Amino acid sequence: MQLDQIDRLISDRGYRFSFPEEIETAYHAYRLHFRKRLNQALLIPTLVCYNVFLVVDYLLLPQTFWLSAALHLLFVSPIIVMSSMGLREGWNERKRDYCVALGPLAMIVQIMAIYTLNASEAAQHYQYLAIFVLIYMNLLFRLEYEQAVAASAFAATLYVGTLFVCHAPLPVLVIGTMASGAACYLSLSGNRQMQRDSRHGYLRRMQDRLRIEAAQTAAERDVLTGLYNRRRLARAFDQLLRGSTSRSVALLMIDVDQFKRFNDENGHLAGDVCLKRIAEVLTQIFEGSDDLVVRFGGEEFLVLLTGIEQPHAVRLAERIRTEIEALGIVHADGATHVTVSIGVTAGAICQGVQNALISGADAALYAAKQAGRNRVWPPAAPLASAASAALPLAV
Ligand code: GH3
Ligand code: MG
Ligand code: MG
Repeated sequence: MQLDQIDRLISDRGYRFSFPEEIETAYHAYRLHFRKRLNQALLIPTLVCYNVFLVVDYLLLPQTFWLSAALHLLFVSPIIVMSSMGLREGWNERKRDYCVALGPLAMIVQIMAIYTLNASEAAQHYQYLAIFVLIYMNLLFRLEYEQAVAASAFAATLYVGTLFVCHAPLPVLVIGTMASGAACYLSLSGNRQMQRDSRHGYLRRMQDRLRIEAAQTAAERDVLTGLYNRRRLARAFDQLLRGSTSRSVALLMIDVDQFKRFNDENGHLAGDVCLKRIAEVLTQIFEGSDDLVVRFGGEEFLVLLTGIEQPHAVRLAERIRTEIEALGIVHADGATHVTVSIGVTAGAICQGVQNALISGADAALYAAKQAGRNRVWPPAAPLASAASAALPLAV
């Protein structure tokens, strides 16, 4: 997911009822978690409220009270319980919504079934309860708008159709039709508004998260070369310490030789280009690996290698040295190329490993410079040993 894509969606207001596929999937995954909690929270109040309405049956329609009680407890309540469990991971949003809507729809079926069995005038009051259930379904269960419309159409058709088939008195039929129509309109408007707010809120949250990530990434990058900086290096060492402490790590400290001279003779801008080209070589060599390439400062670079022993690290350093020399960046004399010296050190991950490795690599780099530059220290076997890394050679 890209920040500019989210920004565009927000400013175009193109988020109202659907997102591009990738964001839509992430949105539903996020919403599923929220809806599961909502459904759990609604289950007991729904069961209690719905069954408390048996009082209405008892008062208005006592002749069908026991049938209604059986429908409440043996038919609708189990459906409510089952439908509240319908928020499954594998299902798509539509299937989940219809499953959730089953509970309220079963309530409406029960109300209208009892209505059909009662010819009394009291039954004309009873059937209005179905309208409350419809409003409840659209406003509390957070169905997607499309599914809410379909479920409402089903409920309203069932409701008005039953009034019609049962020959409800004309005023009841008219009032029922108008009231159910108004209930659909109002509750679906509310549903629509909530969905828009929910989608907008999701985009804002994503925007915040991506902005924070972008800021963190920028704070850990070097502006000139795009490589990581020392802040990222410190975090990498923290991560290593939090992980396995038995693994070995190696550090390569790379310093451009005679870079002051290069700058003086070719200008700082040419110096910058040179640093960028060296950074490109390093990026290329370590592309796709877990190793960390850092611009440590000025014309110094560090590579943090994990799970590697010193001889292997020395060979890698040799490859870096050769590839940078092969870039063929010439000094002003037209004869010599820009080269680097590299100090290598290795050790096990432990407290204080960062400072130990940096001073070890620093000492090895100093030795490489003392030994005449354009070389790796310690040199490859047979001289390679951690102990010799700290011993500078006489020029
Ligand atoms: P040595 O072989 O001993 O490493 O000599 P050196 O000249 O490379 O080392 P020194 O520390 O004397 O000079 C480093 C130079 O790197 C000095 C500074 O102008 C240059 N430098 C540091 N950062 C940058 C940068 O971002 N851009 C450019 N163009 N030059 C930089
Ligand atoms: Mg230097
Ligand atoms: Mg230098």
